[in-house]
Amino acid sequence: MSALLPTYARSELSFARGEGAYLFTVAGERYLDFASGVAVTALGHAHPHLVKALTEQAKKLWHVSNLHRIPEQERLGERLCGATFADRVFFANSGAEAVECAIKAARRYHFKNGAPERYRLITFEGAFHGRTLATIAASGQAKHLEGFGPPVDGFDKVEALDIEAVEAAIGDATAGILIEPIMGEGGMREVSWRFLQDLRSLADEHGILLLLDEVQTGMGRTGRLFAHEWAGITPDIMATAKGLGGGFPMGACLMTESVGVAMTPGSHGSTFGGNPLAMAVGNAVLDVVLEEGFLDHVAQMGLRLKQRLAALQDEHGDVIEEVRGQGLMLGLKCKGPNLELLEALRAEKMLTVQAGDNVVRLLPPLIVGEAEIDLAGEKLDAACVALKSRALAHA
Ligand SMILES: *Cc1c(COP(=O)(O)O)cnc(C)c1O
Repeated sequence: MSALLPTYARSELSFARGEGAYLFTVAGERYLDFASGVAVTALGHAHPHLVKALTEQAKKLWHVSNLHRIPEQERLGERLCGATFADRVFFANSGAEAVECAIKAARRYHFKNGAPERYRLITFEGAFHGRTLATIAASGQAKHLEGFGPPVDGFDKVEALDIEAVEAAIGDATAGILIEPIMGEGGMREVSWRFLQDLRSLADEHGILLLLDEVQTGMGRTGRLFAHEWAGITPDIMATAKGLGGGFPMGACLMTESVGVAMTPGSHGSTFGGNPLAMAVGNAVLDVVLEEGFLDHVAQMGLRLKQRLAALQDEHGDVIEEVRGQGLMLGLKCKGPNLELLEALRAEKMLTVQAGDNVVRLLPPLIVGEAEIDLAGEKLDAACVALKSRALAHA
C-alpha cells in the first residue's frame, strides 16, 4: 500500500532524468515529452540556462521571507510588468494561488472604491481554475466540489460563450468576469478573440473587471507571451503560473495600478511566494522566452504541429474528430475514449495529457524543434493505426 493519498490516477512510468523534449526511464527508455508536466517545463528538461541560474542561486540564498526586500523578486516583477499590461505583481507558488489572489484583488478593488457589495465573479461552464476551496467554486465542476461542503459563495456560472448570457448575468453584486483564453483542462476549448474583445467592452460598460486565468496559456505557450495579446485586449487582473518557473513551483498575479493600490499592506501574503531561489529561476525563464525570435519559434512550431495534426485527422478521421488550440497548446478531440489514444501514444513512447470533453492535449516544451514535431507526427500516426487495427480485431 502506498503512503500517498490516492488522489491521482498515475501511470506506472517513472523517470530518472530529462533532456530537452525527452524523458528517460530508470531503464533508459526514451519518451518524447509532449506533456511537459502539464505545460510546466516550458523550456524542456535540464535547460542549461535554468540549471545554471538555479545552482548559482542555491549556493547564495534560498529564502528570506517577504519580511525583507528581495531584489530578484523586484526585478522579475518589473520585467513582467514591462512586458505586459500590468503595473503590479504578487508572487505565489502555484496556479490556484495566483487565481486566488486574482479573486481577492477583484473583490478588494470594489471594496476600496465604495462598492463592497460587488464581490461576485461571472465564470464559465467547462472552466478550470485550481483545487483550493475558492477556485473549485470558481470552476464550478460538480466532480471537484463533491464532498467538500458548501461551495465558496461568489461565482455565477454562465453556460455558454454567449455575450448576451454574460450581460444578463451581470448584477449589482458583480465584481468582474473570470475566463481562460483557451480552456485547457476543459478540453482545449478556444474562446474566440472576438468574444474576449466583447467581454472587455462589456466590463468597461458596466464598471466591472476582466480577470484572465492565463495559468496554462501564459508564458509563450500560444506563441505570444500571453494569449490575450492575440485578441488585442488587456485584462485588469491576470493569473499565471505553470510555464513561469519552467518546473520550479511558482505563480504570479498581475494587475493594473488601480487594482493594485487596493491590495494595501497586510491584505494578502505568502510565506514562500517570490523567494530568491524561485525568482532566480523565473528570471532565467524570462531571459529565454523574451529572447528575440523565441515566440516566433513557438508560433512556427505550433503551425507545423497543427498542420501535421490536420493531416492526421484527414487520414484517421475515425480516431481524431477535431484539432483544437493555438501555438503549442493543441488538443485532439477523439472519436473513441481519449484515454485509449493517450495509452496508444504512450505505447509509442510519447507522453500527452488527458483533458475534458474527450480531448488529448499536446503540450510540447516551447523549445521543441522540427525533428521532434515530425517524430510526434510519426508516433501519432502509429498510435492511430494501432487503435484502428485493434478495433478491427474486435469487430
Ligand atoms: C493548472 C491550472 C490551474 C491550477 O494551477 P495549480 O498550479 O495546479 O494550482 C489554474 N488555472 C488553469 C487555467 C490551469 O490550467
